[in-house]
Amino acid sequence: QLSQRLKAVADFVNKGETVADIGSDHAYLPCYLVKTNKVNRAIAGEIVEGPYQSAVRQVKEDQLTEKIEVRKGNGLTVLSPGEVTTVTIAGMGGPLISDILENGKDRLTGVQKLILQPNISAISIRQWLLNNGWQIKDEKILEEDRKIYEIILAERSENHQSLSQQELLLGPVLLKEKSAVFINKWNHELVQLRNIQKQMEGAEVSPSLSEKKKQLEQKILLIEEA
Ligand code: SAM
Repeated sequence: QLSQRLKAVADFVNKGETVADIGSDHAYLPCYLVKTNKVNRAIAGEIVEGPYQSAVRQVKEDQLTEKIEVRKGNGLTVLSPGEVTTVTIAGMGGPLISDILENGKDRLTGVQKLILQPNISAISIRQWLLNNGWQIKDEKILEEDRKIYEIILAERSENHQSLSQQELLLGPVLLKEKSAVFINKWNHELVQLRNIQKQMEGAEVSPSLSEKKKQLEQKILLIEEA
């Protein structure tokens, strides 16, 4: 059975799209999308041999080899421009997801939609999207097995979306919604950040430390305000 996390990623896919899932591991997401008839064709990309083999095995087991192609390679390099309408990248850190997007920009020709699920640091993804002509259309936050996950849906846009520092950090849609899970996440984060702040108080002062202190203070303020 698909995790709630990947189900939420799948929910952002619309019927008839063609999807590439990058860093697919067992290819659970593309298999689910095809089995539920949401998608007729999908590509699963994976860089590491073990997970790549798991994906190949899963697709065979589900008898989906005609509809899902498993490709081995780094990030978006497994795609040719125009091949898919939608790219999903889930279960990695925000900075790694942003790197994959940045390094594969030329392969995103024809891609209309990005569905991204960072495990940490969603801010780096929001920043990348804004800098590269994408607009955040929707977001979701959920808790599963005591972990909190954020999912970002972005579409190409002619108009530059501008977000405040607070929206970048917390998510423009999630900030508006202020769900219980959202409040839970940022309350926890606040406790941790204040602890770090306390530890820094005892440390020797250096220019880099005082810069870090300032950034931390700013982040705490943004969260407190929200
Ligand atoms: N997407 C699945 C999910 O959300 O359950 C799997 C997540 S798993 C933690 C991350 C996967 O991404 C690993 O299998 C890893 O090998 C793969 N990966 C990491 N960097 C990658 C890259 N640059 N290109 C393709 N796959 C990558």
